[in-house]
Amino acid sequence: MLFKNTKAFAQECDAQDPLHKYKSEFIFPKVNNQDVIYFTGNSLGLQPKRTKAYVDEIMDDWANLAVEGHFYAQKPWWDYHERFAEPLSKIVGALPSEVTVMNTLTVNLHLLLVSFYRPTKTRYKILCEEKAFPSDQYMLQSQAAFHGYAPDDAIVEIKRREGEHNLRLEDILAKIEELGDALALVMIGGVNYYTGQVFDLQAITAAGHQVGAIVGWDLAHAAGNVTLELHDWNVDFAAWCSYKYMNSGPGNASGVFVHQKHHDTDLPRFAGWWGHNKERRFKMEPNFDPIVGADGWQISNLPVLSLAPYLASVEMFAEVGMEALIQKRSVLTAYLEFVLQEIDKEVASSFEIITPTNPAERGCQLSVFLHGEGRRLFDYLMQNGVVVDWREPNVIRLAPVPFYCSFEDVYQFGQVLKKGINQKTSN
Ligand SMILES: *Cc1c(COP(=O)(O)O)cnc(C)c1O
Repeated sequence: MLFKNTKAFAQECDAQDPLHKYKSEFIFPKVNNQDVIYFTGNSLGLQPKRTKAYVDEIMDDWANLAVEGHFYAQKPWWDYHERFAEPLSKIVGALPSEVTVMNTLTVNLHLLLVSFYRPTKTRYKILCEEKAFPSDQYMLQSQAAFHGYAPDDAIVEIKRREGEHNLRLEDILAKIEELGDALALVMIGGVNYYTGQVFDLQAITAAGHQVGAIVGWDLAHAAGNVTLELHDWNVDFAAWCSYKYMNSGPGNASGVFVHQKHHDTDLPRFAGWWGHNKERRFKMEPNFDPIVGADGWQISNLPVLSLAPYLASVEMFAEVGMEALIQKRSVLTAYLEFVLQEIDKEVASSFEIITPTNPAERGCQLSVFLHGEGRRLFDYLMQNGVVVDWREPNVIRLAPVPFYCSFEDVYQFGQVLKKGINQKTSN
């Protein structure tokens, strides 16, 4: 597609965009009395207007029915979570029985590792990416230590090559092969939170299995952003948060995937009554009889008030479909890349996009390394109604989320950025 860095071109793209109407379904913060350009949906998605009704419904049912709401609410609470199976399975490419919602992301990864990280004297290594999201690093370190291994010994990080921003697939595959029989677990973020690099889940999962390892994924930046076929790719387990691309609200519930091949097995797990046989749950029996499927990893009865916004969100995804979102996202992100390159030509700037240029290796996000006065430029953007995200030492992350960002947003962002850079050089 031939892009132009003009307002008319951007507006024409919006006019052609079948998802453009969804922008008005979201609530935007305002700066200087105007809706912001919101490029931070990779950190916290915007609130859909329809979400409040889902929360109000629970509040009303609680007021009117109290304990009876468990069975007689408009959407009964005792199996409220089952409404996620269909729509969520489509988002991550799973069977409905392979997904569930519960807890929060890091908690779920710990719980899944109870089942899926079972080291032995000879096979105890964990392979992860260099500079993983800090919570994942702490999680893996504490898991290794919990099993009596020194984290430095048990955890192997795949490194970037000197002078490169992204990991190479060949290096990941080589590392898996090198670790071979010693490798217990491969656990990587499906999309790197810092660079936006998308990993080849299928190839890495297959390589891990080839040497007898379990392969799990943290999909915090992948769910609702990139194409996932977790079932077909034979992924063992995965978890994601719902408040980034999935617009479910701050700190909200996490989604979990457990591959069908693990359902009817005697994998150890930490159990609770919500994972127990649904028909007999309220018989209060002493012996745990897990539900066959991801729901069998549930522990507590669900925080329905926090599931309500998540349900609003997955129903919106079902309405639009991942395919349409991904199609728009590819073009919108490419347009953002183009606008950045145009601005770079026009002004004496010095920034560099560190996200892979190959569309297959990136999702929504572009990470831009600002040489020089990064922080000042970040502040300038924020003061002028562009919400971006700052990461030390000098990176802004931009996520033009297809649900609620427009081509005109991207164009306008370029104009603000140019002014910000020019101000720097004239001062
Ligand atoms: C956002 C994010 C988290 C956050 O974890 P919580 O348990 O939800 O606080 C964890 N891992 C990755 C890779 C993330 O991007």
